[in-house]
Amino acid sequence: MKLTFIGAAEGVTGSSHLLDINGQKILMDCGLYQGRREESIERNRRFLFQPQHIDTLVLSHAHTDHSGNIPNLVKQGFRGNIFCTQATRDLASIMLQDSAFLQEKDAEFITKRHRKKGLPPVEPLYTVEDAQASLEHFISMPYHKTLTISNGVDVTFYDSGHIIGSAVVVLDLHEGSRKIRLAFTGDLGRPHTPILRDPEFPGNVNYLITESTYGNRLHKPKDKAIETLKSVIDGAMNRNGKILIPAFSVGRTQELLYFFFQLREQDNLPDIPIFVDSPLAIDATNVYRLHPECFDAEMRRYMAENDNPLKLPNVVFVRTAEESKRLNDLTSPCIILAGSGMCEGGRIVHHLYNHISNPSTTVLIVGYMAENTLGRKILERQPTVNIFGEAKDVRATVVVMNNFSAHADRNELLAYISQFSTTEMKTIFLVHGEGEAFTSFRDGLMEKGFSRIVVPKRGESFELI
Ligand SMILES: [Zn+2]
Ligand SMILES: [Zn+2]
Repeated sequence: MKLTFIGAAEGVTGSSHLLDINGQKILMDCGLYQGRREESIERNRRFLFQPQHIDTLVLSHAHTDHSGNIPNLVKQGFRGNIFCTQATRDLASIMLQDSAFLQEKDAEFITKRHRKKGLPPVEPLYTVEDAQASLEHFISMPYHKTLTISNGVDVTFYDSGHIIGSAVVVLDLHEGSRKIRLAFTGDLGRPHTPILRDPEFPGNVNYLITESTYGNRLHKPKDKAIETLKSVIDGAMNRNGKILIPAFSVGRTQELLYFFFQLREQDNLPDIPIFVDSPLAIDATNVYRLHPECFDAEMRRYMAENDNPLKLPNVVFVRTAEESKRLNDLTSPCIILAGSGMCEGGRIVHHLYNHISNPSTTVLIVGYMAENTLGRKILERQPTVNIFGEAKDVRATVVVMNNFSAHADRNELLAYISQFSTTEMKTIFLVHGEGEAFTSFRDGLMEKGFSRIVVPKRGESFELI
């Protein structure tokens, strides 16, 4: 029985881990790597394994850094089943098609540039058609039901409280006389996250693969988020400017809509239009409505008492590119929520291009920004950033709100993992993090009494005994 780390090893994006058992290969997640362009293209195109040799895929949640390379996996020969929760399947359906659309646009753009230089055209990583074909491999299952997915491999999903449908994946493994229980956190959310249920303890395991995104940092308390949001809106109203919020279309956008709803419930939301400028976010918001099984008690109550807390009357859903462009001409204050979360593509880049040099603009950072992304450069308040090949002075006010994180912080991660028995646990593998987060988090886990904590390198394998 062997575990190999393919992606999100010593990094945050491109989550993927491979398990060899009873002569079969089980992949956990198949995410897109996001970083420097050239490196991303290379890493995403070439798998560290033969896709046709993978028997089964288990998907923790629908975020692109966990699911985004699935159509390419199928395109390159994967023919097995993909197991995930029901909400993850629905979200993956819209997200993978959207991702494919972006890949096609990107390839078109580069091909145009290449043509001018006399270079050959480039193929997209995958097409919308490839994404649709990959959906035929999905098998969705409810939380807490155990299913045998392969010879000697049983899977059970537990709530991870990160986005709708997200799961802590537990694999009960049998090989010969050996029985091993392995859990993979996927991305672990925070307790008391709006809308969603809290992360669940899945019972003791022998091996744990855990995310470590904020292994060295603490978030501000969530209840302060609403106050900060209120002051950001007031500031923008005073400056008569736009608030641009790069937000993941799935998860963060709905959480923000929920906060705006709560602000209005408190009579603290001024009369300001809120544009959700992302077809994907619109589709995702509709998926939420279909999955009350994922909601916490508060959200269930709101849903029962109100039409839908995610659809306030001053929220405008912007679907077409023409409508999106028209937002440029607005002269009064407004809030624009647009993807992508790390500003690496999507409509937010156009809004940043048009408004980042305007001192009346506010850029509100509400999510994690990986190294080398445009979002990270803005977050670091670099004086000039490159957008569409043009140097743009950053004159906008940049506000960073860490209390929106969909990831558990150091203390929350430690509290979650401390529930596992230190004697049953053989090894904890730390993935989905960067540098300091790993070292600091490893020390924290040692203090809690866990003896073997490993930060695997990409391509590194471990025998499970
Ligand atoms: Zn995620
Ligand atoms: Zn992730």
